[in-house]
Order: sequence, then structure tokens, then C-alpha cells
Amino acid sequence: MLLTIATTHQPATELGYLLHKHPERCQTFPMGFGEAHVFYPEASHERCAATLLLDVDSVGLVRGKSSHRSRGRTHERTFDQYVNDRPYVASSFLSVTLAKVFGTALSGRCKSHPELANTAIPLEVSIPVLPCRGGEDFLRSLFEPLGYSVTSQTSPLDDTFPDWGNSQYLNITLSNTIRLSELLSHLYVLIPVLDEDKHYWFGEDEIEKLLRHGEGWLKAHPAREPITRRYLKRKREMAETALAQLMEGEDPDAAAEAAAEGWQKLAAKKPVSLNQQRMALVADVLVQAGAKRVIDLGCGEGSLIKELLQNRSFEKITGMDVSYRELEKAKRRLKYELGPMQQQHRVDLIQGSLIYKDDRLRGYDAATVIEVIEHMDLDRLAAFERVLFEFAQPPVVIVTTPNAEFNICFPALQPGSLRHQDHRFEWSRQAFQDWAKGVCDRTGYTVTFQGIGYNHPDFGTPTQLGLFKKATAHTQNKPSETVQKRDF
Ligand code: SAH
Repeated sequence: MLLTIATTHQPATELGYLLHKHPERCQTFPMGFGEAHVFYPEASHERCAATLLLDVDSVGLVRGKSSHRSRGRTHERTFDQYVNDRPYVASSFLSVTLAKVFGTALSGRCKSHPELANTAIPLEVSIPVLPCRGGEDFLRSLFEPLGYSVTSQTSPLDDTFPDWGNSQYLNITLSNTIRLSELLSHLYVLIPVLDEDKHYWFGEDEIEKLLRHGEGWLKAHPAREPITRRYLKRKREMAETALAQLMEGEDPDAAAEAAAEGWQKLAAKKPVSLNQQRMALVADVLVQAGAKRVIDLGCGEGSLIKELLQNRSFEKITGMDVSYRELEKAKRRLKYELGPMQQQHRVDLIQGSLIYKDDRLRGYDAATVIEVIEHMDLDRLAAFERVLFEFAQPPVVIVTTPNAEFNICFPALQPGSLRHQDHRFEWSRQAFQDWAKGVCDRTGYTVTFQGIGYNHPDFGTPTQLGLFKKATAHTQNKPSETVQKRDF
């Protein structure tokens, strides 16, 4: 496996001082699992590149004592212990090698050029075969918030058999103007996170290593939770301990929310809360559906109403809630927006319950039910379904609800507990989709699904959205069609 670090900082050959490896020499280092070689394919005044070639001894790994992988299961030695991707891909072997071969550079020390070691210089890293569970999006979510430009390419599994599709490995280049020690610590932590298969035995000092090499960047990283969990190989207790240390002194709820908000917002340099994202997406979906008259059911303090008021295409917005207190808060919040007379005519706030038939719910182009169903007892959902989908029957209904699978990414939540004390349940993606499909089968709507917020490769997004449309006359007799709009 190969990793090349190049710079155009001039004189570029000073990279040799930073790495403590002479550009004119090829050096070899014995590793427990094979050998590492460092050489410079390019060493000019303008550009200098150092390559680390790691030659993993896959047979030795299985037979010898150097591997901890087969510990306790020697009786199970199988073909795939000999024939696997480990010798060829960038993995935690590479991290261990980086720490050994470039240890001084990783620690930021350089006796001969201390200033250079402390200076951000243009650096480019290329790794031709990087296993990346979670794909390119996940790769970007790790490196872009740290200021890297990321390019990546996939290649076919076998050129002769294009039908086999692409391999799961990426050929990547990362560029950044950064101190070399920072770059090495990013690689040390993030390469095994991408690979998610640590080769060495897992000990308590893993937490210490993660915190040490993550110092100065991991705490503020928007993907710090998936990074920590994956680095610690999903050992929940360890991950909680590490996250607790990372978050010391922070409000855990705010921190969890901030982390879940994802890297996109960081890239956009403007933090957007999950709630803002939710409101913005719902408004977009309503605009696309051409809705002009909208009723927001369970409107709470009126966040969505506030959002919709910004857009003149919404002619009438009614908020309904069972709680008088919430409606009073909504009134106070909307006071400023409702200043001019014509705005006041656009908004109505009414008190009512979603489980009783109500004529006031009829006549709208769309109804929104944002983070409300989980506040109702499960045995009330059938009544809610009849009230909304059978009686009021708006052409468009948007329902959002938490995705319970994502809860594992909130360190402040105990396993199995709910996000809010008033929640009666929280559904997995499957459970929500099953319910929505059932509604469609019974009421002649169709539904599509989307996620809202940071999309974790395994657990999906924190919020899930179902967009229901009333089947028109010519589609009414068809069985309900449930479409998965995008994987989330
Ligand atoms: N949609 C708002 C508020 C969500 S909180 C937002 O996203 O910001 C859930 C709201 O649903 C609360 O305001 C609660 O009073 C309301 N609610 C719960 N059960 C209800 C019911 N049966 N009928 C109407 N509103 C209900």
C-alpha cells in the first residue's frame, strides 16, 4: 500500500527535514506486520514528494505472532485470512506505520527547522487504494471540515469484466495548506475510521490515542461522533467515555445537536440547526407541490409558520395546536412578522386536536405534521389517520418524525431512551415506512420518503420525512405505490 505526501512550498526539498528522511535515500523500517519503505519519487526545488510504501506480510500475519487478529480463533484459520485486501489497502496498518516511521513529524518536532514545522505549507496527500465504508460522501464529511480539497475516483473491479461494477476502494487526493504534524494526525485517526477494521487488539489505550491525535481538531469536528464510534470500533462504552472527554464543559444536548447537524453547514460557514434545516426543507417541498393554502398541524411555537411567511407564494397559513400555551407562544413569536395588515390576513392560529374530526381542517392544499406524531399515543394514530387522511383529505400531507436509529449518534442519550420526555415512541426508518405504507393502502394516498440532516452511512438522518399525495382520479384504483426517494 502506498501513501505519498507532496509539497510545493519552496525550497520543496525541506520536506526531507520535516519528515526526518533524506530525499536522496531509500530507507527501510521493519514493522511487526511487514516492512515499510520511504523514498522520494520527486525531489526538486519546486516540488518534493515522499512516498511511504508498506509491504504487509499477509502470510506472516496469520502464522506469526505479529497479528492479534487470529488470537483466540486459531482453529478457524480460513482462506480469507490468507487472501484478503489488507496487504494492498490503506488501513490501520498504515496509521501504525505513520506513527512509527514519521513519529517525530507527527509530534510536530523538528530540531533543524522548528519554524517550518510550525508553518502551514501547501501539502498534497495521495492514497491510491483507500477502503471507504460510507463512500465518497463520508470521505468528504471527514476531510472537508478540516479544510481539505478532496478528489476521489473509483475504479472498476476488473477492467475485463465491467459488469462486475466498481470496486469499493477509492483513489484519493487531499490538498490543504496546513502544518505537516496536523496532516499526519488527521491521517492517523481518519484512515482507520474510513476502513472501519482495526487490525490490532483493542485496548483501553485506544481512547488515549484517539484523544491525543485528535487534539486541537476532533472536538470541533462536526462528524466527531461517527469518527469516535468508528475509531473505537463501535465499542459503545469506550466511545461514550471518549466523547464525554471531548465534550467536557459543553451542554451535552447542544453538542449532540451540533454534531448531528453535519458537515455541510460547516462547509457553508453558517451553522444551521437541525430544526432550521427541517423547516427549510418542508417549505421547499410545499413550494414544489404548488401548495398555496397550508395548515400546520401541531404547530407548536410556530417555527414553520414563521418560515412560510417569508415566501409570498403561501397565501394562507393556519397553525393548529392542542395546547393553548403553545399557541400563545406562537402569537408572541409571530408578532413581529405579522406587523402589516396583509400579513395578519395570511395567518390564523386555532386550537384543536388532531384526533377529532374538524371541519376547519378542510379546504387546504397541504397539511404539515412536523415532529408531532411521536407525541401521540400509538393507539391514537388510527384516529389521527381517519381525521387527516379520510376526513380532511388535503392533496398533500408532509409528516416528519425522529429516526430512532440515529439516536446512537447522540451521546447524551442512554441506549433505548427517547429524545424528548413527551415522546411516546420513536420509529426506525422501517417502522415509519411500514406505518406510512399502511396509511396509503387504507386511504388511497401515495408516499415518498426523504431524510433531513446529516446522513450517517449506517443510521441514516436524524429526522425522516414522508410526503403523501392524494392519488388523482385516474390513479385511484391502482394499488398504493411506495417509493424510496433516496437512501437515508
Ligand atoms: N410542529 C412544531 C411543534 C412540534 S412539538 C415544530 O416542529 O416546531 C409537538 C406539538 O404537537 C406540540 O406543540 C403539541 O402541543 C402538539 N400536539 C401533540 N398532540 C397533539 C394533538 N393530538 N393535536 C394537536 N396538536 C398536538
